[in-house]
Amino acid sequence: MRRLRSTLDRIDRKGYGAYKDLAGSFEFDDFTLLVDRVQRDPFAPPSLVRVRTRDNRFDPSLFENRVRRVAFEDLLTREVDRAIRAVVRGDRGSGGSGRVEIQRPSQKVLPRTSMVVGRDSVEARMAVGLPARGRSVDGRAAVAVLLEELPEVVGRALVPESVELDRARLHVSSVEDANHLRDLLPSLGLVAFVADGSVLPRESGASDRPLGEGAVPFESPPEFRVEVELPNRGVVTGMGIPEGVTLVAGGGFHGKSTLLSALSWGVYDHVPGDGRELVVSRGDAVKVRAEDGRSVAGVDISAMIGDLPGGRSTESFSTPNASGSTSQAANIAEALEVGTSLLLVDEDTSATNFMVRDERMRELVRREPITPFIDLVRPLHRSLGVSTVVVVGGVGDYLEVADRVILLEEYSASDATREAREVVGRFPPRAPLEAREMRRPKPRRLRASSLDLRRGKRETARGRGLVTVELGRERVDLSSVEQLAEAGQTEAAARIVGRFADGGDGGVKEIIEGALSGISREGLDDLGRFRGHPGEMSLPRAQEVAAAVNRFRGLKVNTET
Ligand code: ADP
Ligand code: MG
Repeated sequence: MRRLRSTLDRIDRKGYGAYKDLAGSFEFDDFTLLVDRVQRDPFAPPSLVRVRTRDNRFDPSLFENRVRRVAFEDLLTREVDRAIRAVVRGDRGSGGSGRVEIQRPSQKVLPRTSMVVGRDSVEARMAVGLPARGRSVDGRAAVAVLLEELPEVVGRALVPESVELDRARLHVSSVEDANHLRDLLPSLGLVAFVADGSVLPRESGASDRPLGEGAVPFESPPEFRVEVELPNRGVVTGMGIPEGVTLVAGGGFHGKSTLLSALSWGVYDHVPGDGRELVVSRGDAVKVRAEDGRSVAGVDISAMIGDLPGGRSTESFSTPNASGSTSQAANIAEALEVGTSLLLVDEDTSATNFMVRDERMRELVRREPITPFIDLVRPLHRSLGVSTVVVVGGVGDYLEVADRVILLEEYSASDATREAREVVGRFPPRAPLEAREMRRPKPRRLRASSLDLRRGKRETARGRGLVTVELGRERVDLSSVEQLAEAGQTEAAARIVGRFADGGDGGVKEIIEGALSGISREGLDDLGRFRGHPGEMSLPRAQEVAAAVNRFRGLKVNTET
């Protein structure tokens, strides 16, 4: 501490570059401050620091296994964020002077680089805007930030005295329950579970926090109600969605998309109080939609779309500009390639001609390469074991292919399966085009050399907010990838893809799985570019890493034969 103070005294009022003398570590009473990267000027991205406590006196049960540790690290990240808001003044001069930040978590609980809870220490990774007056060092302000505010943050967030044990236990056990529940799904023959009392709607289209007033809590129809026993909460009841084809029907604005969206986020765990803590789905579930304009590289969509105009084969379909239907087919084929057991499809965001074709259109248009999804949902399950939940408001034909129908009225769910069968019986049957089988798309081999990440002199692979990754000179648009929860996942996905460029050619699925199993061995820190502070990252799924690489416009693949 004394050394830090005297260094700051010495460089006070010097040019901003003098801050580089701070690089290194400083011993405080209860923790070590590690200054890993020092910004070049007050307007540059903030400096990266870590604080590491000298012991870990938290109750060991809070971090005794991987799931609990991730949850506890999530909690401590939120505690630090809260302490920063309470303690740090912020604006202390030009540029980012005086700002202190930690990675901002979403409503999800994910492995992140922001916090490391070890047996003998707790380490928080932060960014600090070193204070400047104009472009020179403001030593006095730096003393206030580093020697007063930072220790206060540590005292409020990283020691057991300041974190209520009950709240910490609740956080950890809630996440553990959700994880357990997700692991139970296959043995129960379910693809998803929505606990009674869950709050599904969100505050607004721009907020992921629960809707407060007016939210109708979820209540399972008795026919779908199942009982599960969780390690911490004990017996819980809710709606089990079995494998197969499930329809969510109902009038406009009655909560269909809200239910589907909650299922799509059920691949992740949520913080207690989110309302969706016990809404879980298979961890490999993928929400697929139409995404016209996207680039597609050598994807086998032939099971869904036959030969295109000019006899163009679709076994290795490439385009810089996909249509609504071909983009949706590519999204499904890519999900199957990397691996999924549950597809989530919302009529609202689907291409109509991909979803269904009526008899009149079949009569008029003979040369139609698309086998509509309605003819594929059953084969998807029968031949490939992939279940589907489809939201439908307008196309009653889907009633014919559903194993069950969940009807939403005024946000309240009921079982309309029997009624749906009666309705179907009153109309002439819809003849399927053919009784089709569904084939797995041919796996692709990624050509590593096509991932050209040069941008000027440097190689670039980074996230730019939640929905963009920058790979070389290209900005890859991920705004239609619906299960990215936070910018840290985008950043990590970008860095993972960046490494593919240096690896050899190989199967797309194998390369992604290899990268993720490397991370689960080495930890997310391994993706960091420098020693020390790795940057702000959260763990993405294989599906989102695939989404990033698949949308790269320069991507070249070989289709295996
Ligand atoms: P749909 O897809 O059936 O047209 P949405 O799911 O988009 O309907 O929901 C319509 C509106 O109702 C949204 O503003 C949503 O936030 C709200 N909503 C959804 N479910 C509930 C609920 N259980 N309680 C209160 N409001 C809800
Ligand atoms: Mg909708």
